[in-house]
Amino acid sequence: MYKYFEEYDLEVSEALKDNFKNIIEKIGEDPKREGIVKTPERAAKAMQFLMQGYDANPEEILRSAMFKETYNEMVLVKDIELYSLCEHHMLPFFGKAHIAYIPNGHIVGLSKLPRIVDIFSRRMQVQERLTHDILECINSTLKPQGVAVVIEAQHMCMMMRGVQKQNSVTTTSGFRGQFEKIETRNEFMNLISSHLR
Ligand code: ZN
Repeated sequence: MYKYFEEYDLEVSEALKDNFKNIIEKIGEDPKREGIVKTPERAAKAMQFLMQGYDANPEEILRSAMFKETYNEMVLVKDIELYSLCEHHMLPFFGKAHIAYIPNGHIVGLSKLPRIVDIFSRRMQVQERLTHDILECINSTLKPQGVAVVIEAQHMCMMMRGVQKQNSVTTTSGFRGQFEKIETRNEFMNLISSHLR
């Protein structure tokens, strides 16, 4: 038996619902139209889901799955899907994160790296800070010999509005410790740009 359920802060849901109803009215739509009647409620819940990262503690999640281990080669998790909202327009940006670290006595459960990408992505963000948040979280918690984060993303605020550029990809990166050395950084960059599959 497996049950899946979602929980929402009802007070927040109600307040968001009123605001979304207001937006629908102000843009010239009829909030009582059949297809739209329940939209404020759905939009409120979608927003709460997308912004749930404020309630989580990413450092604690990493610490909960740290294991003593003597392995001291690079650990790389690449192509981690990410979906976030830009803090300037509240429009989505989405793409991939690539994370590597070199252990220093401890490894972390591999699924925790995508978990912290989700937590930081589910806040209002800019890609630069998202990259930095993930990097510093791993660096301060796991205290590895080195950590590297690269994010490639496309921004709806550039694609649907503004300069309307559909194919531009923004890349941000951050490196600490061993990855500040050119050889280690190059090994990482080669690994994320090659396709083994
Ligand atoms: Zn934007």
